[in-house]
Amino acid sequence: MNYFVCLCAALIGLATLPAHATELHRLDLGIANVYLLKGKQPLLIDSGPHGRAAEVESWLKSHGVAPEQLAAVILTHGHADHAGGAYGLAKKRGIPVWAGAGDEDMLTQGKNRPLQPTTLIAGLIRIGVDLPYPAYTPDTLISGPVDLKPYGINGQVVPLPGHTHGSLIVVLDDNNSAIVGDLLRGGVLNNSLPRVHFFHENRAQTQWQLWKLLEHEGIKTFYPGHFGPLQAADVKRTFFPHGRFQWGIAPGSLDL
Ligand SMILES: [Zn+2]
Repeated sequence: MNYFVCLCAALIGLATLPAHATELHRLDLGIANVYLLKGKQPLLIDSGPHGRAAEVESWLKSHGVAPEQLAAVILTHGHADHAGGAYGLAKKRGIPVWAGAGDEDMLTQGKNRPLQPTTLIAGLIRIGVDLPYPAYTPDTLISGPVDLKPYGINGQVVPLPGHTHGSLIVVLDDNNSAIVGDLLRGGVLNNSLPRVHFFHENRAQTQWQLWKLLEHEGIKTFYPGHFGPLQAADVKRTFFPHGRFQWGIAPGSLDL
């Protein structure tokens, strides 16, 4: 009888599993991460910088995806290290590029808006990372949530301004995780330690967005544009050490 109950429970369990758990892969290019979402159709999140397309392409192939098969390249924002490679990787092949409406000017001009450092060290780093890239016109400008179900992915693209005006994140519902671009970053020395990003157009807004993702969206794992992944408990400890939202500047910004 017990075996019968177990068998029934197992069958019911199988029947209620989601149609596909989204497959997520990360390529760390050193200067930035690129993510592959494998659903019914593959999506690439960020392109890396200009000049690294060959590396991204061979990584895609190692995961069974020919670059031509990508349904779209979704840019978390228009900074050169995330959006600079989209011309060579996607536009040249006719693969659509999606970006936040607030970052259109950076893409069409092929350059960052002025980077606003959050620390003294970031001011020095700026000189090395503020490079121009081949300009292009994005195919889809996003200003509201976009459901990814048509691509076989249980999640959505959500505008989340703060790091830049047009920043986007990808929320994945299967495992309460999100690809968050430069909303925050991992540590240079310890990649799994959450850190304030080097540059933000509106730093107070990024703080608020993080709080919302933690407390209202229940995000457990953050996949940032640099290093990571980051766990919610560590993000809370770093950004909200008193367990409540705090206005003003997050602590710990001097740590690499
Ligand atoms: Zn950035």
